[in-house]
Amino acid sequence: EPDPTLRPEPRPEDADRALRPQVLDEFIGQAEARANLRVFIESARMRKEAMDHVLFHGPPGLGKTTLAQIMARELGVNFRMTSGPVLAKAGDLAAILTNLERGDVLFIDEIHRLNPVVEEVLYPALEDFELDLVIGEGPAARTVRIELQPFTLVGATTRLGLLTTPLRDRFGIPVRLQFYSEDELHEIVVRGARLLGVQCEETGAREIARRARGTPRIAGRLLRRVVDFATVEAGGRISQALADNALTRLEVDHLGLDGADRRYLRLIAENYAGGPVGIETMSAALSESRDALEEVIEPYLLQQGLIQRTPRGRMLAQKAWRHLGMAAPKSDPD
Ligand code: ADP
Repeated sequence: EPDPTLRPEPRPEDADRALRPQVLDEFIGQAEARANLRVFIESARMRKEAMDHVLFHGPPGLGKTTLAQIMARELGVNFRMTSGPVLAKAGDLAAILTNLERGDVLFIDEIHRLNPVVEEVLYPALEDFELDLVIGEGPAARTVRIELQPFTLVGATTRLGLLTTPLRDRFGIPVRLQFYSEDELHEIVVRGARLLGVQCEETGAREIARRARGTPRIAGRLLRRVVDFATVEAGGRISQALADNALTRLEVDHLGLDGADRRYLRLIAENYAGGPVGIETMSAALSESRDALEEVIEPYLLQQGLIQRTPRGRMLAQKAWRHLGMAAPKSDPD
């Protein structure tokens, strides 16, 4: 009889998969998007057609990939996944498209990073399910047209503004994902704890939810770390006190901000008297790419009302000064 405690340690991607909702009914939050998707999926099934192309946009970790996988499952079709930066040449995309079966879902993550040459190939594919490929070079070059099976493209992007207008216009169903409420994240943590087989008190789950930065991926990650502390120090049981203690040791504060968030706020407070500061200056001072600041750090700080974006740059809001335990400088009478 094999000892069940000797199971091999699951890899992080397995753990992630274990918490991933499989069907629309298991997906918590994003009520409006979910209700609409349900109708479009049902309609495509009834009409026996490929569902229209969908564009998910919003900060990382809010469920774009998960929803795309759920769509494929609910439509009863194959799920194929790639990403913008991976598709270097037109031929890379052509190879994927010609292998799709009728109605399949093709998911392209980071679609704002598609090579323009690849994007050109995508247009006729999206509109008419046709591929125009150039064969050969110079005077001998010719174009061949290949018919494709009807398919559904699901694009995901953290930066809607970086999508070209023609590409954006080809998505019939644009869906903006929102940060999750504390109640929704609470539900996600409770579900996660059940799937991981750990005992989690109501108030313990709430503490993790409150500090998950509005993001299911972060809720899952924090839950797993808190489980580690609970396992080693509390007989496997997650109480509020244990969760609070573990999260504080992980340097996640009471608003759910991590070290990078606080460095960002402190830079504006301490070096620029609350701003405004330009994004390039912030990027250089923090040694973080501008993209990382704009895609990962700022959306949540903006949503929480900790910073403001002005034409002259970023500024701290009152709430941020309070959070940092600092006094805002008296404004100059100018
Ligand atoms: P994105 O593609 O937007 O970066 P993902 O779809 O990869 O985000 O989701 C990140 C993680 O969060 C996944 O592991 C998934 O299990 C979890 N997750 C996302 N949305 C939900 C949800 N609504 N309910 C429960 N878990 C979710």
